[in-house]
Amino acid sequence: QRSISHICFIGAGYVGGPTAAVLARECPHVQVTVVDRNAERIKAWKSDVLPVSEPSLLDVVRGPRDGLNAEKRRNLHFTTDLEGSIQAADTIMVAVDTPTKSRGTGAGYSLDIGRLEEVAMSIAQYATSDKIVVEKSTVPVGTGHTISNILMDNSRVGVNFEVLSNPEFLAEGTAICDLLSPDRVLIGSSDTKSGLSAAQALADVYATWVPRSRIITINLFSSELSKLAANAMLAQRVSSANALSLVCEATGANIDQVMHAVGSDSRIGPHMLRSSFGFGGSCFKKDILSLVYLCKSLHLDDVASYWQSISDINETQKSRAVSRIVSRFNNSMGGKKVAVLGFAFKEGTGDTRESCSIDLVKGLLHEGALVNIYDPYVDKSQILKDLGFGEESSGGSVKICQSGEEACEHTVAVLVATNWDMFRVNPKALMNGVKSSYDDTNGEKEASSKARGVPYGNGSTSCSATGPLYASNGIDSTTEIMTDNCVSINSLENSSE
Ligand code: NAD
Repeated sequence: QRSISHICFIGAGYVGGPTAAVLARECPHVQVTVVDRNAERIKAWKSDVLPVSEPSLLDVVRGPRDGLNAEKRRNLHFTTDLEGSIQAADTIMVAVDTPTKSRGTGAGYSLDIGRLEEVAMSIAQYATSDKIVVEKSTVPVGTGHTISNILMDNSRVGVNFEVLSNPEFLAEGTAICDLLSPDRVLIGSSDTKSGLSAAQALADVYATWVPRSRIITINLFSSELSKLAANAMLAQRVSSANALSLVCEATGANIDQVMHAVGSDSRIGPHMLRSSFGFGGSCFKKDILSLVYLCKSLHLDDVASYWQSISDINETQKSRAVSRIVSRFNNSMGGKKVAVLGFAFKEGTGDTRESCSIDLVKGLLHEGALVNIYDPYVDKSQILKDLGFGEESSGGSVKICQSGEEACEHTVAVLVATNWDMFRVNPKALMNGVKSSYDDTNGEKEASSKARGVPYGNGSTSCSATGPLYASNGIDSTTEIMTDNCVSINSLENSSE
């Protein structure tokens, strides 16, 4: 029976760093080394200003990294030494990024597994003893075999490898909770004696803190496909809610009420049913497009079209948001100032990859608006980079603010693009005292909305009596029709992984 005592994570990003930290904390008997070729990232992981912003992450890291745990043992290490880390480990978890291919066959759809292949070559080259190699990254179905072949073809004589798939299901913003108490841990292996034994060894590590009933062992292909399927189905729920929001707009139904009614069915459940700007994040779009590509390569054209439509609805939803704001201002945004509160793709993270805020702001700028942006986790240079400006300059059209209040000053509209609590709980307070260049009779309309028993805004938000147009998460279109003072602008229903 195989056992695991030294794990090397390759890739110190949103998945590798937090996963390694939780594993080291829960398994003090296992040495955990995290290696990345990005020296800046590794330096940050060794400091108290981590490169990934997640609630409780610093506490979790500091225990095993600095020996502040009950055992007073340091079993979490960060390094750029790839060769030494590979040689010392019995198990290597590969958590490098697998973005959508930008060129060549499958460009725009297929996942780029180039970094994974590169890592496999390094493992083959440096390994001097047998290793379990675990795919943590999200990969196309069949990648396990590709990795196996690279390892076999390029390794030293007598060194053996077993490739497992162990996709990660954490959601940014709740990564630590998700890792400490996962719904399931999936381990895929070949069904050979050695494959099953390696899967068992990895299951034993997780069983230190995850109930055995939640550890699912399946075949390698099923495991790889399950990850794509899970993300595709989560994205499908968001797109279904967004598609239905258009039907609501045309009929007078209220999307929040409809989704509440639908989600109350225990077979459906309430999660990921909020109408929104669309889903963001680094994973949903790329994973769904990877599934589309897989279906096309299998000549399953109808199935490919089905999954493609989920992504298409999402793109439409994003551009629709801008169109609605613009038409609310008589198609004339020139010189008008708009606040965008939140720039990360969801609350609880500083990650802006595929954030809907990027499209939203670019669309507003295209219409000639001036945009004030505030996000508590995302720094100025990242925002400017995402918008395509140089580090410091935006030509005066964008202002990065230090607070929500500052962002709202002299604006005609306030858009809550990320569901940070500070924006949701009391937006009125945020805008109280803010000088506005837009006047309205919102107080009156709010009262009228309440009288009809329809939540004004999303129930937790409302327009400021004298403030700018306020548009936020979950304000559905019927609210706009009845109150005529809020555009239906929703924040993100967020990507999990
Ligand atoms: P990331 O970009 O944050 O991190 C990847 C890291 O890998 C980077 O620090 C990069 O420098 C490093 N790297 C790349 N090539 C390397 C090499 N050859 N040698 C050493 N280091 C290398 O990516 P991420 O968000 O952590 O995602 C990693 C994988 O996990 C992806 O496949 C993603 O789809 C999947 N995933 C992501 C999430 C999420 O929420 N971010 C959730 C579940 C699964």
